[in-house]
Amino acid sequence: MAVRKTDALILKVLPYRESSCLVYLFTKQHGLVNGIAKGVKRKKSGSPPVERGMRAELIVYSKPQRELHTIAGIQTLDMYEGIRAGLEKSALRDAAFEMVLKTMKHSEPHADLFDFFDRFLSGISGTPLCSCFPRALWRFYIDYARILGFGANFFNCAGCGKPLDTIAGGYLIHEKGGCLCEQCLPQKPAASYLPGAVLEHIRSQPDRAGPASVSFPVNTVQRITRLLASYCAYHCDIRPDFNSLDFLDDLLKGQCSSFYREGMIHQAFGAREC
Ligand SMILES: [Zn+2]
Repeated sequence: MAVRKTDALILKVLPYRESSCLVYLFTKQHGLVNGIAKGVKRKKSGSPPVERGMRAELIVYSKPQRELHTIAGIQTLDMYEGIRAGLEKSALRDAAFEMVLKTMKHSEPHADLFDFFDRFLSGISGTPLCSCFPRALWRFYIDYARILGFGANFFNCAGCGKPLDTIAGGYLIHEKGGCLCEQCLPQKPAASYLPGAVLEHIRSQPDRAGPASVSFPVNTVQRITRLLASYCAYHCDIRPDFNSLDFLDDLLKGQCSSFYREGMIHQAFGAREC
């Protein structure tokens, strides 16, 4: 039996028998690991709970050829409190986690991915909702694709190589691994269209504000979110069905009256303040 101490993100937790939990982890040293955390439901008061979305240091007791390992010694490192506080940020996190759970294989070490996930969670935890919902998820899908080796080029047409116009926009074509300009597409698939303002937003650096005061209709935001998710799904060879995105769609529709105006995602792209 190998005993390994590692940092881990808890992607999913399910109750298991009387007092234990089944936990799905993304670990810094060993990639995706599934295991059983025994007795965690009976923890004494004051002990950290095992909760989806937290980062912890823990010990994995593993046996070769086994899919479920034993998880013990869980010490909380970060709860990402800003995410736990609201449904919308939790929905962004859960959409990212669903992508990871569906696309990552077991036992693939990816320290760079672990750091990327940690930055994503810290980012949305510490950012005002109107600046990250749902733009942080778009950035997540784009960077996830890049780290896994199938990143799309949003600057030049994958057909003719000409720069993509930020007025005309472009079309994200999965099988081309990037975007095509209008001239390179005889038929223009509406589902793949990236408006110029979206292209501009996607090109902006993640740590900088994008174009100020950009608004998109809610249905455009929903479509772009699914387009970027399906791009990852296509290249990872999985079905583009994501339960978390159905919930996100409901939140986008439901929130229009509170911090979005007239059904538009107002200043959700680049605004620094709410
Ligand atoms: Zn072209």
